[in-house]
Amino acid sequence: MAITAPKGTRDILPEESYRWIYLEEKIRKLCALYRYEEIRTPMFEKTELFVRGVGQETDIVQKEMYTFEHRDKESFSLKPEGTAAVVRAYGENKLYSQPQPVKLYYITPCFRAERPQKGRYRQFHQFGIEVLGTKSAGIDAEVIAVAARLFVLLQIKNIKLYINSVGCGKCRGDYYEKLKAFLFKNLDALCADCKKRYETNPMRILDCKEETCQKALQGAPFIVEYLCEECRQHFDEVKENLELMGVDYEINPRIVRGLDYYEKTAFEFVSEDIGAQGTVCGGGRYDGLSELIGGPPTPGIGFGLGLERLLMLTEDSLSVKKPPLNIYIASMGRQAEKKAQQFVEALRTAGISAEKDVMGRSLKAQMKYADKSEAENVLILGEEELKTGVAEIKNMQTGRQHSVNIETFEQFIADYKAGAEKG
Ligand code: ATP
Ligand code: MG
Repeated sequence: MAITAPKGTRDILPEESYRWIYLEEKIRKLCALYRYEEIRTPMFEKTELFVRGVGQETDIVQKEMYTFEHRDKESFSLKPEGTAAVVRAYGENKLYSQPQPVKLYYITPCFRAERPQKGRYRQFHQFGIEVLGTKSAGIDAEVIAVAARLFVLLQIKNIKLYINSVGCGKCRGDYYEKLKAFLFKNLDALCADCKKRYETNPMRILDCKEETCQKALQGAPFIVEYLCEECRQHFDEVKENLELMGVDYEINPRIVRGLDYYEKTAFEFVSEDIGAQGTVCGGGRYDGLSELIGGPPTPGIGFGLGLERLLMLTEDSLSVKKPPLNIYIASMGRQAEKKAQQFVEALRTAGISAEKDVMGRSLKAQMKYADKSEAENVLILGEEELKTGVAEIKNMQTGRQHSVNIETFEQFIADYKAGAEKG
């Protein structure tokens, strides 16, 4: 039987990859505008990085990582997300000795052993940004604004920004007591995972997708009501800065983004247009993360944005043009074909995209191919043209023709360009 691609992965064929290129270029330009620089980290890391940096209790670490051993010794995992590796790289490469903050972005494949469905794959791609080295609430707003602007640039409608504050260790002590007391009477209704979370990190229960857990949570207290003075002030400043920047938001106290080291700001962009997998982008502040993985104490904030889901949202609005075929040279006979072979390469040297037949097609079939390829111009070379040293270039859109000298390449290019200008 023919070998197929692994479940949950997909080939991006040329027709679609043009859309990816378009999107990636938009992202790179956007990052330059906000002065974020690209970082590329390895596709795999020591498993320990994710266990500590994503969190032992998370679905990602518990169930979704692709982990393997190198010759029975060290354990490695394919990257399931981008943040932990960037924070590692910041410490390891001493980026803290550069002017702060350090503003980074990445576009990377990620790997998670999930049940594949629409918008959920085992290999997918994330665009992410991370800012390291500042606690400023202004940066929280800037990070959010980068994602918001990308949606605007791509003309994506019906997408909502939800923000929350998940507080810090100080606010959480009190809150956990309150939440646990609330959930205690409904403990049996929680799923097995949430029963564990009840002990280890009760706030994560808010993030659970099980319906029974969501029911048990009705009327539960939210952490925004228990923020300490510092966290409350930070949250107020984030909101104020978002307003200053003209970014619309809605407060959603259910957004927790689970991980222990997440602090203060948490946010998500959710679309109403792509069904169950509606969360396109998620992010937050992680001031404790660097220390947790053995790096220097460094505040940080960032987001991860799923590119497959983003592309699903742009399906209708994005019309991407293929790079054009400037000229197709059709030929008849061995001598003319030689000339065509020489000319297409010389055209490319001059920066003009060119093709000729490589299938031994008849002239008629060559013309059909040129048409299918949407060639802008076609040049026909036959015995007659070789004899006279003059040929016709036909503009396929206007149908207009103009003569070109084919004796020397320089003259040919000059004539080609003159004709192209006239259209
Ligand atoms: P979900 O709740 O959908 O499982 P998540 O909370 O696991 O998402 P994050 O870890 O926050 O997702 O990743 C950030 C973004 O990456 C998501 O908002 C989504 O757009 C994308 N993403 C996550 N997992 C997948 C996947 N398996 N396939 C495609 N995109 C994904
Ligand atoms: Mg997930």
